[in-house]
Amino acid sequence: MNVLDKFHLDGRVVVVTGASSGLGVAFAKACADAGADIVLAARRADKLDDTADLVRALGRRALTVATDVVDPDQCNAMVAAAMNEFGHVDVLINNAGIGTAVPALRETPEQFRSVIDINLNGSYWATQACGRVMQPGSSIVNISSVIGLTTAGLPQAAYSASKAAIIGLTRDLAQQWGSRKGIRVNAIAPGFFATEMTEQYRDGYLESLSRRMVLGRTGNPIELAATVVWLASDAAGYVTGQTIAVDGGVTIA
Ligand code: NAD
Repeated sequence: MNVLDKFHLDGRVVVVTGASSGLGVAFAKACADAGADIVLAARRADKLDDTADLVRALGRRALTVATDVVDPDQCNAMVAAAMNEFGHVDVLINNAGIGTAVPALRETPEQFRSVIDINLNGSYWATQACGRVMQPGSSIVNISSVIGLTTAGLPQAAYSASKAAIIGLTRDLAQQWGSRKGIRVNAIAPGFFATEMTEQYRDGYLESLSRRMVLGRTGNPIELAATVVWLASDAAGYVTGQTIAVDGGVTIA
């Protein structure tokens, strides 16, 4: 077999949460490029239609399901809709998330809880819902962050705690579901990629980090999507429980 065949996602059904903007759109498109049909889940159904059009333009099927990942029932309903449409779910990309920067002495309980609720708990509810129907050979890719591994000069206790927790979640589910269910669970720790999330940063913030970007620039979403496709595919068939930094070297600087 040609090794490139291992990277294909032909016939797979991939769920992408938070697929209405930013990196989620790039992940959905990349998985469709690789041959998968895509279930697009996010709160904004109108924006999901744009991503669905991108997937269909590649000749793949797309199902949009308005889903707030904070609600376990909505995650279960999203997976039920996917099963109804496609009959299987093979890959979950836990991408939905929010980024905040609030000084710790000013952060309200509501602000802290909402980040944990979306980034950590939401990933878990989506994972549980998919894990219940996934067959051996399936793959879960959790989107953590370099901020789960290091700091980057912003006050991000909630975000950093949620993204570090995703790394622990990844390890634990990998060991629970590896040999028993044949499901691989990995995480990616992205560095800095220009999206709606990074637009919230103050002017000059990304430039101020350039000293720590060993490759001298922010990332292009397709460079992250390539790692998502690899981890989703059989090319990563012996990789589980890992967190892969795709960060242009930020974590080694
Ligand atoms: P983004 O704001 O463009 O995308 C986040 C997506 O999540 C949006 O579609 C949003 O609607 C969705 N979302 C938020 N709350 C949700 C909820 N409760 N239920 C369902 N969907 C919800 O930002 P992005 O940069 O594309 O971020 C995507 C992921 O990548 C996030 O988990 C983020 O933490 C992570 N990340 C991004 C960067 C970066 O540099 N952009 C770096 C590290 C990690």
